[in-house]
Amino acid sequence: MKLLLVSDLHYALKQFDWTASVAPGFDAVIIAGDHLDIAGQLDGGVQIVVILKYLRRLAALSKVIVSSGNHDLDRRDAGGEKIASWMSKVRQLGIPTDGDSVAFGDTLVTVCPWWDGPTARDSVHELLARDAAKPRKQWIWVYHAPPEGPLSWDGKKHHGDAALNAWIETHRPDIVLTGHIHQAPFKQGGSWCDRMGDTWIFNSGRQIGPTPTHVAIDTRAREAAWFSLAGAELVKLDDALVARTELTGPPAWLGASAEKREAALG
Ligand SMILES: [Zn+2]
Repeated sequence: MKLLLVSDLHYALKQFDWTASVAPGFDAVIIAGDHLDIAGQLDGGVQIVVILKYLRRLAALSKVIVSSGNHDLDRRDAGGEKIASWMSKVRQLGIPTDGDSVAFGDTLVTVCPWWDGPTARDSVHELLARDAAKPRKQWIWVYHAPPEGPLSWDGKKHHGDAALNAWIETHRPDIVLTGHIHQAPFKQGGSWCDRMGDTWIFNSGRQIGPTPTHVAIDTRAREAAWFSLAGAELVKLDDALVARTELTGPPAWLGASAEKREAALG
């Protein structure tokens, strides 16, 4: 199975365009939160309308999976916690989103919402417990914030979600796809990939320009590759330790969509 992870596009519409241009080369495209830009000039409601249009276009090109991030919260629930209520409109497009799970053969993908308080956090706890009981060979989570560790390092401090560390220890998923800490892959002591026990975790980070930082994963080739303006790296998923090696060109398994990526590598 070939997966593409992007996140934190923050209303960079050119980056949505790029994602659409490579989407047909993947079995699933995962956008792990922060679709909107709350610091942006444009009203949040207007941004939502535009992003929904882009997501609809993307969903016609590949299987798309979308989680919320902290920039996507558009209202408060009855308990006063901020929520991304517009994810229900994402679901109406046929796109699995917060609280959903989707099966690709024997791979199960669980999509977690951003949690702003104890009620939403408990709902994530229940969601993971529910899906832990489902049969699968491989289990993938989509979760905006990375766990505490190199993926949550911004060069000054850690901004990880300790609740996620505990859930990973309990359930031992195969892969967790995150975002949130834009600088982590670029900082000394940070990274785009990490391993906790048997679980691989990825955070592609964020960069300016038309091409988003992104992670491509081939679960059959057992490799994951990260692409950015600062270079590209590869890890082998069967390695017990994280050994990032520099990539000078895209791996063969990227196939037809590799040319665009090669162009992005410069
Ligand atoms: Zn972000």
